[in-house]
Amino acid sequence: MSTRKRLMIPGPIECEANVLAAMGEPVPGHTAPGFIASFGQCLKMMKQVWQCPSGQPFIIAGSGTLALEMAAANLTEEGDHALVLSTGYFGERYARILERHGAKVTLLEAKTGHAITARQVEEALSTKKYKLMSFTHVDTSTAVKMDAQSIGELGNKHGVMTILDGVCSVAGENIRQEEWGIDVVLTASQKAIGVPPGLALMVVSDKAIQAWKERKTLVRSYYADWTNWLPIMEAYETGKPAYFGTPATNLVKALEKGLENIINEGLEARFDRHNRLGKAFRTAMSLLGLDMIPASEEVSANTLSAPILPETISLPDFMQAMGSAKVAIAGGLLPEIKTRYFRVGHMGSADKEDLRLCVEGIAFALNECGMNANGEKAWRTAIAE
Ligand SMILES: *Cc1c(COP(=O)(O)O)cnc(C)c1O
Repeated sequence: MSTRKRLMIPGPIECEANVLAAMGEPVPGHTAPGFIASFGQCLKMMKQVWQCPSGQPFIIAGSGTLALEMAAANLTEEGDHALVLSTGYFGERYARILERHGAKVTLLEAKTGHAITARQVEEALSTKKYKLMSFTHVDTSTAVKMDAQSIGELGNKHGVMTILDGVCSVAGENIRQEEWGIDVVLTASQKAIGVPPGLALMVVSDKAIQAWKERKTLVRSYYADWTNWLPIMEAYETGKPAYFGTPATNLVKALEKGLENIINEGLEARFDRHNRLGKAFRTAMSLLGLDMIPASEEVSANTLSAPILPETISLPDFMQAMGSAKVAIAGGLLPEIKTRYFRVGHMGSADKEDLRLCVEGIAFALNECGMNANGEKAWRTAIAE
């Protein structure tokens, strides 16, 4: 019997069998006809999943941080003003990346557990002229979700380009990139897309491509420069191979299956499933007596949760007790509070059974640490609501 735990950390996540089978196929060459067709299909399906039919998709070997850096490198020139809306660890990281590419960054930080409101954004955009604004849709360190629609719309109103870090939200939370007018929506393969780690993914609006074409200076990263990658994406989408850097061929094959799985489930059904499971998980945690980092339901993500431990329980003790659970979860990430909470990913193909095992594991660990929690009852009640 396998003792492998189900991965319920906030990425990488469990992958469906057809995705893993594609990873395990004999390595395709990057000019093989079958691979060219798969790459082209992935680019087309990304536009569907991102809900951005007129966008330009990019598939590049690298992690989500490369996607963050690619958008920053191509859209920033020395001295450009950038507004970073931060709801945790990844907002902070984006400020550093933009600065590295020459931007003058204004960091607008939310109080831990809170989102940045449309009013705060409006005020910031009214007091200074920015070239671009970035925000983290779901910050994986706090499980706080921002209102992507209102920020996209505010960006358009003020003529500011918007970059959405969707590494923990694309394909788990609804994003209508084109309708909401968001210029870059980026993610990585190992989160809600449900593919092993290794691909940086993004869809870029026509407006952002135009802004990039009007640059006066060279992009400061050779690998991330769209000058090198745009012709490659255009070639594969029209059924022709092209070379700049070797694509991660097995990962692209796996991505094709992952995107097919998402489209076959249906976007609305998938967002609805995440919504129901996320809500049920939060209810179960509350029935176990745990508070959450997000301050309200309205700002709570559905792709992951961040429950707070009671003051009497230490994170190392709790994590050790979780050792006998059938699922793997993650500790805290935000430096100021990282020993006071833990994180559970419930995105991608996660289902009721995964969450039941997880809630029961958490209750068991809490009991080992001296609480009196009934996980089975909490989950039964939560999922019935
Ligand atoms: C995971 C994550 C990242 C970083 O992605 P890597 O693949 O680890 O580089 C960035 N932003 C958010 C919101 C994330 O969840």
